[in-house]
Amino acid sequence: MRRKILIITTGGTISMKHNSPFGVIPNDEFAAHLKEFPQLAKIAIIDVYEHSNIPSPFMTPQKMVSLANLVDEKISNYDGVVITHGTDTLEETAYMLDLILQTRKPIVFTAAMRSGSELGLDGPRNIVGAVRVAGSSKAANRGVLVVMNDEINSARDVTKTDSSKTDSFISPSLGLLGIIDPDKIIFYRKTEIYEKIETTKIETNIDLIKCSSGMDGRFLEASVQNGAKAIVIEAFGRGNIPQTMLSAIEKVLLKDILIIIVSRTYTGRVLPEYGYEGGGLFLQNLGCIMGEEQKGTKMRIKLMALFGKFESAEKVRNYLTSQK
Ligand code: ASP
Repeated sequence: MRRKILIITTGGTISMKHNSPFGVIPNDEFAAHLKEFPQLAKIAIIDVYEHSNIPSPFMTPQKMVSLANLVDEKISNYDGVVITHGTDTLEETAYMLDLILQTRKPIVFTAAMRSGSELGLDGPRNIVGAVRVAGSSKAANRGVLVVMNDEINSARDVTKTDSSKTDSFISPSLGLLGIIDPDKIIFYRKTEIYEKIETTKIETNIDLIKCSSGMDGRFLEASVQNGAKAIVIEAFGRGNIPQTMLSAIEKVLLKDILIIIVSRTYTGRVLPEYGYEGGGLFLQNLGCIMGEEQKGTKMRIKLMALFGKFESAEKVRNYLTSQK
């Protein structure tokens, strides 16, 4: 029996076309086109719902929550949901939904690196792959999935690694979950860490600061002045920062604002190892929290959900430190 799949569109290159002289811009025909796409009709009963039609740099955490609410509201009528999205912020939206969605049915994000006007466009193939995965009972209970380039990755691990290539989306540390072949969908592994933060509310005032050599505390000060509830610092290596940031760090911590240390490296976890001023151990002793292997943009999303759920910095600290 054909499965029933809802495709929710949000915009992005997958729904854009080149329109001279404006360049590649959103186009209104995408949702209607999906309804008539013959390859989709062959594999599933498709409904299409337009949530938004924006370039994904316009996506906001609030819009992510509205998308999550929409999925939870509609899912009882479907076997799975596919969400089309721009690639630029796809990993953030997919991770937000991974954390806060109530449903355990297959929820699959897909996108395209090439617009509808380019040679070798990847959108149609990605959509067909995503619908096949969303219709597979094997895809349930694995968290939110991202399908691009015939590969299935977890929203938790995946990242856009290249600004233009069609194989841009990979999970650099942990690898893919599975593949989409013409005859079948194969899952090779499950994510062991399947985290749920049940909340319909989020806190958006969470900042992300990336370290670079010789940096001082100016960005931290600006965050505090603007009322940040928590600040994620993408530190060097195992979680170390320049000592020139330390006086600002101390002031932030005195105000009960959480500081979460993650690494700016491509892969790997932070560890309280170095005891010199600004080293990870030193920072942990000051009261900073070590953020494991999660990358800065996703740690920021997680904190938004955690502050939405728990509200108090103390409870969020307890949650993060008890995970170890
Ligand atoms: N700038 C586009 C967006 O994220 C890129 C894409 O979809 O690939 O909306």
